[in-house]
Amino acid sequence: MNATKTNTLIESDLQYLATQFETKSIEDVLVWAVPQFAPRIAMTSSFGAEGVVLMDHLYKLGIKLPVIYLDTGYHFAATDELKQKLEDRYGLEIIVQQAEISVEEQARIHGDNLYERDADACCRIRKVEPLKKALGSLDAWVAALRRDQSPTRANIQIVEWNAKHELVKINPLATWTRKDVWNYTVKNDLPYHRLYDEGYSSIGCWPCTKRVKSGEHERSGRWAGQGKIECGIHL
Ligand code: SF4
Repeated sequence: MNATKTNTLIESDLQYLATQFETKSIEDVLVWAVPQFAPRIAMTSSFGAEGVVLMDHLYKLGIKLPVIYLDTGYHFAATDELKQKLEDRYGLEIIVQQAEISVEEQARIHGDNLYERDADACCRIRKVEPLKKALGSLDAWVAALRRDQSPTRANIQIVEWNAKHELVKINPLATWTRKDVWNYTVKNDLPYHRLYDEGYSSIGCWPCTKRVKSGEHERSGRWAGQGKIECGIHL
């Protein structure tokens, strides 16, 4: 573990905490996590409904938590509109993390539309490596993942050690369902990405995000037909 506060938490502590938090509220998790690791803690978000639920809880608790936004250069214009709306509503501190190379440089080096030929390479350049840089100075990372989003997320713990980035990863929404998220969103009149109303159920970069049909899995519109279900930042 990093030579900082995480030295006071060993993996058995994290397992114990994970078990305890299974039946606790998001508020309980956040009230424990943020003071425990501040200022070396941040959340990541591309402003999906789950991230907004977390932002709303943090705001109501009076807890400030920086938001890392991976600006891939391929986000929908509506994502930036929502980002502005959320900054205004919650007074967010947003850390915009970009790739080492621009979209144009990537095209010069790797050819046009790398996302069509090698989405893993494109995600590595535009998401995975920038995230690694952003998390490098942190001891804890809050993510808005749910277990029921995909098989790759089915076993996440509310608090867990992330060996890849050598920090504690906190998933306060792990036990929430998609329905829980939307019930909370509607009940609290939260802002949400306008593409959800246009047939999209999970929203990432525009070249790799498609509408889904009724009955299809919520993440089936991501990298559709490519046999890929994660960009790599949560693997
Ligand atoms: S989601 Fe698509 S466009 Fe975005 S970084 Fe990955 S491959 Fe590239």
